[in-house]
Amino acid sequence: MNPRRISKPVQIGKVTVGGNAPIVVQSMTKTDTRDIMSTIHQIKQLEDYGCELVRVAVPDAEAAQAIQTIKRGISLPIIADIHFDYRLALSALDAGADGLRLNPGNISEPEKVKVIVRAAKERGIPIRIGVNAGSLPKTVNPALSIARQMVDAALKQIKLLESLDFELIKVSLKAFDVPTTIEAYHDIAQRIPYPLHIGITEAGTPRTGIIRSAVGIGTLLYDGIGDTIRVSLTSHPREEVTAAYEILKSLNLRQHGPILVSCPSCGRAEVDVIKLAEAVEERLLKIDKPIKVAVMGCVVNGPGEARDADVGIACGRSRGILFKKGKKLRVVEEKDFLSALMREVETMTS
Ligand code: SF4
Repeated sequence: MNPRRISKPVQIGKVTVGGNAPIVVQSMTKTDTRDIMSTIHQIKQLEDYGCELVRVAVPDAEAAQAIQTIKRGISLPIIADIHFDYRLALSALDAGADGLRLNPGNISEPEKVKVIVRAAKERGIPIRIGVNAGSLPKTVNPALSIARQMVDAALKQIKLLESLDFELIKVSLKAFDVPTTIEAYHDIAQRIPYPLHIGITEAGTPRTGIIRSAVGIGTLLYDGIGDTIRVSLTSHPREEVTAAYEILKSLNLRQHGPILVSCPSCGRAEVDVIKLAEAVEERLLKIDKPIKVAVMGCVVNGPGEARDADVGIACGRSRGILFKKGKKLRVVEEKDFLSALMREVETMTS
C-alpha cells in the first residue's frame, strides 16, 4: 500500500480533512432540506452510524435558511451543496454552513464565484470544488479524455480561488466510470496540495453501488489518495456510512465497529453457516467497538480463523468450539451457538 499523499488540511466545523487526520466518512441527506425535522432526524441517524460530515441539498432560499435551524438540532458539521445560483451559497453561509460544495459546471462565472469566495474567506469556511463528469463546464476541451476534462475544470476553478488568496479548498472529481475516476484523481493528486474528497458518483443501488465504490475508492485509498470519502448509493444514507467504514476497515485505515470473519460454507459444513453468520451480523450492527468475530463452518479452517479472532466459533456436528483471544473457551451445543458467541462479544465490548 502506498503512503498517504500529503495534503493541506482544512477544518470543517470540528472535523479536520486532510493532513494526518483520519480519512473522514461523509454522507448526504435524502430528505427535503426544507423539512427541518426530517432532516435533523436523518442527520442524527447518520451520526449514530458514525457519519462525520453531512451534506445537504440547497435547491432554494428556504433550504439555505433551514440550515440555521438544522444546525441547532445536530452536532455534525454541515456542508451546503450549491448548484446554479451563487446567491444560495451566500445564504447558506449566513445560515451557518460549515462548508460549501460548488460545482464548476454550473457556477463558473468568475464574478459570481469571487463573491462566494470572499464571503467564505471572511468566515473561514472551506469550499469543495466538486466536479462531476455529468455536468462539466462548457469551457473544457471536449477533445480531451473525460478524466482530463474533469481535472482541467477543477484546476481552472482552483486558480480562481487562489487568485483571491483563498486556500481552504477541497476537491472532488467524480464519475460513474471507475477507471475514469481513478485516472482523474491520480492526475490531480500530483498537481495540487489540497485534500481530496473521493467517491464514485451515481454508483447505483447497494447491490452494485457498494462494489463499484469499493473498487474505485478502495483503489485510490490503496494508492494513498483520498482524505474524505462518500459512498453514493440509491438507498438510505446509513448504508453509505456503513459501506464507507467497511472500505476503510478493509484497508486497515480506520477501526470502526466489529469485523465479521465468516467462511463461505461448503459441502463440509455441519451447520447452517449462512444463517448463523447473518444472525451474528445483525446483532453486531448494534455494537460500535472494534472487535473481530469469526463464524466458521467446520474443523478444516475453522479453529485457525476462530482462534485468530477476538471471539470465534468453529462449528462441528451438533457442537462447536468457542474461542476467545486465541484460546479454546468451551464446547457449545448447536442450539447455543449464537447466544454463546454473542455473550462473549457483549462481555468484551460493554
Ligand atoms: S470452514 Fe469448513 S465449511 Fe467453511 S468453507 Fe471452509 S471447509 Fe467449508
